[in-house]
Amino acid sequence: MPSPRPTLLLSVDFEDWHQLVRRRVGASNWQEAGPALARETDALLKLLDELNARATFFVLGMAARAHPELPARIVDAGHEIGCHGDAHLPVHTQTPDEFAADLRAAKATIEQLTSRTPIGYRAPAFSITRAADWAFDVLAQEGFAYDSSQHDSPAIRDHVIPAERAPHRLDAGLWEFPIAVWRTGPARVPVGGASYWQVLPTPLLLKGLERAGPLAGLYLHPNELDPQPLKAMLSPEATAAQKAHAKLREAQRNGARRRAPGALRAIAQRFELIPYGEAHARLGNGA
Ligand SMILES: [Zn+2]
Repeated sequence: MPSPRPTLLLSVDFEDWHQLVRRRVGASNWQEAGPALARETDALLKLLDELNARATFFVLGMAARAHPELPARIVDAGHEIGCHGDAHLPVHTQTPDEFAADLRAAKATIEQLTSRTPIGYRAPAFSITRAADWAFDVLAQEGFAYDSSQHDSPAIRDHVIPAERAPHRLDAGLWEFPIAVWRTGPARVPVGGASYWQVLPTPLLLKGLERAGPLAGLYLHPNELDPQPLKAMLSPEATAAQKAHAKLREAQRNGARRRAPGALRAIAQRFELIPYGEAHARLGNGA
């Protein structure tokens, strides 16, 4: 009998890259549904099925409204639905009341489209900073049972540093599942995100994940599984500066896109991949 594989938590920040990149460059058509999320979802669900892996999809409210048929497909494929907020604005730029309203808007959309109530939350761009740690109290008040927004990556400014590498209970009462980080000497190597997998050779990535701590979290974005090259497709009146900015974002994302499926296959051979809610249940629902 082979020895049991260690377990990692798999998640997808389910958002429409076209909405986000167009808003970022100031394009007027940013709210329109992008042309890629449906095909990205197809590719992602197919790959997860092939790997016998299940994941938590932290669904962004505004992406779900632009693609109302997709969240139910994710549920039908056996995955967990979590919440990525509604408008994808950094938590630290909001007041507690605005943050609560964003959570409620996302939850209402998700419940309407899937008949599921999400119990887990992932902040946009891990934006619960040290100054915004009131967000954990708001999440608990809004009924969330766990969070996975703590990412001890050198690339994220002013982030909350996880009290422990392993899942742990926060003072607010909900559970925190930190993102996988390989700490080696004074260095911290973020190994949990597909955007980092493009620069790490596979043996090093697997080694880092083995040392990241129990039930460490992985996160993907649908665009990283896109079978086609990403193009921002701005409206015809976009300025030259907007087009140049979009080209830069395309190049960054296409690098991750080429690498993610192979890296995920290698990870799935070495690790058992489960949704966050299952890990939360294994921990006894916080009892
Ligand atoms: Zn996001």
